Amino acid sequence: MEPKDKNYKHVNYTWDDEAVSALSSVDRLVYRSNILGADQRITNTGGGNTSSKVLEQDPLTGEEVEVLWVKGSGGDLRTSKAGNFSSLYQDKLIALQAIYNATEPNGVKTPIEDAMVQMYPHTTFNLNPRPSSIDTPLHSFIGAKHVDHMHPIAFIAIAACKHSEALTKEIYGEQLAYLPWQRPGFDLGLKMQEVYEKNKACVGINMGQHGLINWADDDKACYELTLDLIEKAGRYIETKDKGADTFGGQKYAAMEADAAQSITVDLLPYLRGQVSQQKRFIATVHRDEAVLEFVNSADAKRLAEIGTSCPDHFLRTKIKPLYVEWDPASGDLQTLKAAILSALEQYRADYCEYYETCKHANSPAMRDPNPTVILIPGLGMIAFGKNKSESRVTAEFYNCAIGVMRGAEAIDEYIGLPRQEAFDIEYWLLEEAKLQRMPQEKEFARKVVVVVGAGSGIGKETALRFASEGAHVVCADLNADAAKETAEAITESVGLGIGVAGTGISSCGNAISCAMDITDQASISACYDEAVYAFGGIDSVVLTAGIFMAPNVDGEFSVKQWELVFKINSIGPYLVADAAKEIFMAQGKHMKSTVVITTSVNGVVSKKGSVAYDSSKAAGNHIVRELAVELAPYARVNAVAPATVVKGSLMFPRDRVMASLKKYGIAYSEEESTEAIRNKLAEFYASRTLTNAPITPEDQAEAIFFMSSDKSSKTTGLVFNVDGGLHEAFLR
Ligand SMILES: [Zn+2]
Repeated sequence: MEPKDKNYKHVNYTWDDEAVSALSSVDRLVYRSNILGADQRITNTGGGNTSSKVLEQDPLTGEEVEVLWVKGSGGDLRTSKAGNFSSLYQDKLIALQAIYNATEPNGVKTPIEDAMVQMYPHTTFNLNPRPSSIDTPLHSFIGAKHVDHMHPIAFIAIAACKHSEALTKEIYGEQLAYLPWQRPGFDLGLKMQEVYEKNKACVGINMGQHGLINWADDDKACYELTLDLIEKAGRYIETKDKGADTFGGQKYAAMEADAAQSITVDLLPYLRGQVSQQKRFIATVHRDEAVLEFVNSADAKRLAEIGTSCPDHFLRTKIKPLYVEWDPASGDLQTLKAAILSALEQYRADYCEYYETCKHANSPAMRDPNPTVILIPGLGMIAFGKNKSESRVTAEFYNCAIGVMRGAEAIDEYIGLPRQEAFDIEYWLLEEAKLQRMPQEKEFARKVVVVVGAGSGIGKETALRFASEGAHVVCADLNADAAKETAEAITESVGLGIGVAGTGISSCGNAISCAMDITDQASISACYDEAVYAFGGIDSVVLTAGIFMAPNVDGEFSVKQWELVFKINSIGPYLVADAAKEIFMAQGKHMKSTVVITTSVNGVVSKKGSVAYDSSKAAGNHIVRELAVELAPYARVNAVAPATVVKGSLMFPRDRVMASLKKYGIAYSEEESTEAIRNKLAEFYASRTLTNAPITPEDQAEAIFFMSSDKSSKTTGLVFNVDGGLHEAFLR
């Protein structure tokens, strides 16, 4: 037989017999799920589920029982492991039908339907803790051994057509049945059971305005059937493709990529501030050919208003995106901002009206009325989420929706869910309960922090500290490689998350890196532009970069050295904070941004041999106070003043450590390691403090974290000593 992959054009065939030959039944299910989820055309991140009915030995009786392994709640198919699947006794699930049928009333949206969800845990096999998904009865009640439920773009295009039922018959004949839209749950499972039992020629169902479900008694056959059915949809749509007339043809000309990126960067902080009036959001910019074809088209406004069709989508995309009417050929940033402002007002009003019209007596309170998907002709799509991964998911979903609309409009007419149905999904009490069960967000989860000096020492420690609290971190350093290493360490520790979208740097994870020379305004701006394009804005700037230069053995210190020390320790911090001011102002004062600059207790302690360094830090302290005035009320500006952090610092190379030990009359030998003599110096410094403990980068990072957090929200213009207690440095 010819390999299957030769025949597919609209999906990737990746089943490998050898890869599965040694796997257990459950691992084969994981394998099938992963390869289905890996192709965005087959199913979206977090969408769809798979199942296998497997014979297992019952731990209670030792007898063989049929167990339904089905993708549980949370996670996504592409990255799922066995732990993402729930396992339930199949006979006990079927037995639940008696309870359901005996209850009056029953049916979709009756109280018993939601109540059945509480029964699923009672059918758990072998204490598997994974909560089961709302789609569980669909998989259980269809009698076949293997079931795939996918959200394929090409197939949803058919499911979201006005004449979907007729099209299903035309394309698939007896192969597929059609069920009109119905919220997933127990009742939908029963309807599918009926389809399965009635017509053995039928191998799947078009779930109207939702997706595809199909089955087989062999897992590979089930996988291949899923691909066949999607391929068929893709080919049918292809024959009807409208080419240049897609979406009514192009109304606006595409912008040149650099110009589009530049105006997007200028717009983003303002836009982020606007949609973040209730809670902060992180942005993802998505700008590919498919998105541009849509946003630039004549029909974009009409189609955007209809909203996304797949219910899995609009929990993140909201019922509709915000389409901004703006002509990229004649418009500029000011006209764009004005257009966004009025469109946003309308959007929020529409959302309130939708909520008020559709709500039930027991509906949860209205959620944030701001859009999460913004469509702008010429520029593309800007999507928002509570963190980077979620914003990528949002962008991915609307990207799928565009594919769906393209297909549906080619073969028929795209229709959306009735508003009430959309509402009953968005404000479903089961959904609300799921939201309530989510772990509390981390302190910096919705924030973007730029750490300048992140390549080493205090800066690196600070970047890691913020990342551990959920922050999106821009690691900046004069040494680009060192900055990159810190960013990679963060990605390694927090992971990339889910969601596949984003153009250029905007497809990033929680950390990016960039080179920054704090004495060069162009370099600072370039780094901020990257940060903004990656995440949408900046909430906190932390600067730990600095330089220490000592006079030579004869006590000489050149004018050039003076200039360099002041440039890096005094002027640099000013430039870094000043460049962020524009971004903070564009976001708005409700965003309460922060700047923390590392100075030094040497700024107030006079001593021999470090006049340039000490006075540059004294200037730094006062620059912080001046900046606190300048940046109010948009940002708080504070300083953290360390003393003698030896560990991990580039300011203490071997030579300087030896010179210091000599100065203080501490014995050491040339043979000792740098680490050993550094410890000696650190211990000496510790002995001079009131707390008698060495001062570490972790101590500084904690103080910087505190001064950047809302816990210090009433403090600005302060120099905060973290020096172990040096009475000479007491501020007065
Ligand atoms: Zn679904």
